[in-house]
Amino acid sequence: MDYAIATVGSHSALQILRGAKDEGFKTIAVCIKDHTLIYQHFKVADEIIEISSYKDFHTVEDDLLKLNAILIPHASLVAYVDLKTIEDMRVLYYGNRKILSWESDRDRQREWLRKAGLNLPKIYNDPADIDGLVIVKFYGARGGQGYFLARNEREFKRKIGSAKEYVIQEYIIGIPVYIHYFHSVMRSELELMGFDRRYESNVDGIGRIPYNLQRDLHVTYTIVGNFPLMLRESLLPEVFRMGQRIVEASKEICSPGIYGPFCLETVVTPDLKFYVFEISARIVAGTNVFMETSPYALIKHGKPMSTGRRIALEIKEAIKQGRLKEILG
Ligand code: AMP
Ligand code: AMP
Repeated sequence: MDYAIATVGSHSALQILRGAKDEGFKTIAVCIKDHTLIYQHFKVADEIIEISSYKDFHTVEDDLLKLNAILIPHASLVAYVDLKTIEDMRVLYYGNRKILSWESDRDRQREWLRKAGLNLPKIYNDPADIDGLVIVKFYGARGGQGYFLARNEREFKRKIGSAKEYVIQEYIIGIPVYIHYFHSVMRSELELMGFDRRYESNVDGIGRIPYNLQRDLHVTYTIVGNFPLMLRESLLPEVFRMGQRIVEASKEICSPGIYGPFCLETVVTPDLKFYVFEISARIVAGTNVFMETSPYALIKHGKPMSTGRRIALEIKEAIKQGRLKEILG
């Protein structure tokens, strides 16, 4: 029986489903009611399964099994469907399902990044130790909502309120660069898919008003969109080295390791050092800026190749070679 590609209707679903169609797959979007019109409008889904809330996601299990669907995870799935539900579902799943718990737990994530030997911002376990600018983040994929900056313990205490689950991280002054990778099992190769930078409210708007009016504003990092980015070519060797190390370390922490798309979220300082403040162990929405292709993917594949399409290509090659088991986790 033929396979279908399924994903949740949000985040990078247009890219994933369009890419799957480009590679000849049947496609399925699982949507909450409010989102259905988008997937109808763009005609990327052969079938739309509607649910009234993400809490009901488990109810589509039998439908997806009947359709022989391979589920592609992204941040909306991870944000709105609990990890246990995803882990327990019998639906075919592209990627290493167990690695999601390494992404969602900040301590485990840090252990992974540290094992890979990457530069990381310092973490303060005790607010009394704050000795420079810090960014305070909350747990879960909340897309930067509610983060705040502080310069000392007093400022931290004033802003933290009653929140209990947070991390205090050294704020690295530089520029954010989000690196999109694809680790192919079929071709035993790590590919560079592109880079983006984010457009966040209100932090990216604050520079539009005079400095004297900025002073008392509360900075927030709510993600609204993304921009494409090209990096200095001489930085690419380091970009590849970092990705390779992440793949190697992932084999140690969560066999068989990470494969498919993933992203390192970095800040690059004026001395051209990459500080990694987070990893996403699945497709990131920043890849949407290359819904057709990035220049790197175009050179590598000799034809337009989005990350969504790359996933479908990998699955197609696995099916042809009878190796599908190797990429379903
Ligand atoms: P949404 O389905 O748009 O509510 O997104 C679910 C989660 O995915 C959010 O909490 C964000 O963290 C993340 N997300 C969505 N869109 C983007 C984007 N364009 N760039 C980065 N992260 C995103
Ligand atoms: P995140 O939700 O972790 O992706 O981060 C949201 C925003 O905070 C992004 O704009 C990042 O550039 C910024 N950010 C996160 N961590 C740091 C850090 N340690 N130093 C500087 N900026 C950061």
